[in-house]
Amino acid sequence: MKRFLKIFLAVAIALVAVMIVRTLTYPFADVKTYAEPPAPHPEQFEKQVQQLSDGVKFQTISDSRPEQFSAFRDTLKRSYPLVFQNMEYQLIDGNAILLRWVGADADLKPILFNAHYDVVPVAGQTWNPPPFSGIIADGRMYGRGTLDDKGMLFSLLNAAESLMKSGFKPQRDIYFSFDYNEETRSDGAKAIAQYLSARGIQFDAIYDEGGSIYKMNIGGRPYAFAMVGVAEKGYLTVRITVHGAGGHSSMPSDNTALGNAAIIMNRLETNKMPARMTKESTDVLKSLGGTLGFGGRFVIANNKIFWPFVKNEVSKIPMANAMVRTTTALTQIAGGDADNVLPGTVTLTVNFRLAPGDSIDDVMQHIKEQTRGFDTEIEIVSGTPASKMSPTDAHGFDMIKKALAAVYPTANVVPFTLPGGTDSQNYGELGNPYRFWPVALTLAEADLMHNANENITLDNYARAIEYFKYIMQNYDAK
Ligand SMILES: [Zn+2]
Repeated sequence: MKRFLKIFLAVAIALVAVMIVRTLTYPFADVKTYAEPPAPHPEQFEKQVQQLSDGVKFQTISDSRPEQFSAFRDTLKRSYPLVFQNMEYQLIDGNAILLRWVGADADLKPILFNAHYDVVPVAGQTWNPPPFSGIIADGRMYGRGTLDDKGMLFSLLNAAESLMKSGFKPQRDIYFSFDYNEETRSDGAKAIAQYLSARGIQFDAIYDEGGSIYKMNIGGRPYAFAMVGVAEKGYLTVRITVHGAGGHSSMPSDNTALGNAAIIMNRLETNKMPARMTKESTDVLKSLGGTLGFGGRFVIANNKIFWPFVKNEVSKIPMANAMVRTTTALTQIAGGDADNVLPGTVTLTVNFRLAPGDSIDDVMQHIKEQTRGFDTEIEIVSGTPASKMSPTDAHGFDMIKKALAAVYPTANVVPFTLPGGTDSQNYGELGNPYRFWPVALTLAEADLMHNANENITLDNYARAIEYFKYIMQNYDAK
């Protein structure tokens, strides 16, 4: 017994020693603490602010009021005379804007900047100031679309207009694509992708909305993380029709459709798709670890050992949960329309966001297992697999780092998988999408997207103009 204890202790000490060495040698990112970035100073900024404010006033809610969309485009043409003079302009699929700035060297692969000018509805939200006002107060502009995604669209146009004014000509072609229903079906992006693909066009890099710079305090110190979406999760909506015994409610059986549906719903929420540490989650941890003391670093450096123990805790935090697995969301239910009749069928709608590594087939198999024993039909309403991963050792990614070093030097660049979807989903065959624009947000500000009182600080807007200008101007700088 004594001998066994000795061996056990020796092994435990050796293991801890290995874990400590691992912690000390683990490649944690060299994380910069936050310092106020240099003040941006684009020329004619007042005019650029007015242009965004004017753009916010159009009620371009996806798939509604076509006259608002055409009026919005007319305003762009008036506001950016050099862009529309120097770039080939065409409308694809009726409302999607494609602009091409022809570069000097046709042998170089072009780059693409994507944005969208549709916005989500405001119904049921309490706004002050009103959502389509574009009102400026306390250094911020308020309105639907200021962050998502008219702010980015106007930053791009202002960057190009001001470069043209200074006489700059790009080496390679620069394309802008502006979708008109990114928030619902991405028809515009799909049509543009088809158009470009039919012409055999391949991009060196694709820049789209997605991550931002997130400001946060860790261990009492401030940090800014530039989260660049190098991949995005897939999307799968499934309708499950559940059958049961119908009839009059005076003599119910135990096999009702609603009761069966409840069991299935409970199973789906309890038995989640498996959680996994992917390469990007590990990258996020490498950066995060750089901000932590020894205890935190010890856990992260040995995350493979700790993973089985922390997995459950991680899964309880919705944001962390979305990073490590395919999520399951019960979103709709229908069945029964009288208080004294048992419905024979109930329909459930479930929305999954697919983590890289889980296919649509994997999730369908999972649903089959969870509905086993019940009389059901399962059908796919819509599905898009998770995207491929864009490389971080490519020139397109390097340009993000360089542009940030110029406009936001203390931002720590972290590649990650975007939990939501973007237009880039449609551009994967045309090049490597990087989903990021450089607005610095607190987590509370980031929450305003799609919510009431969405706003952008004028500082963020100015900095975004300079950031895009930097990339366009320096992509081929020697
Ligand atoms: Zn958006």
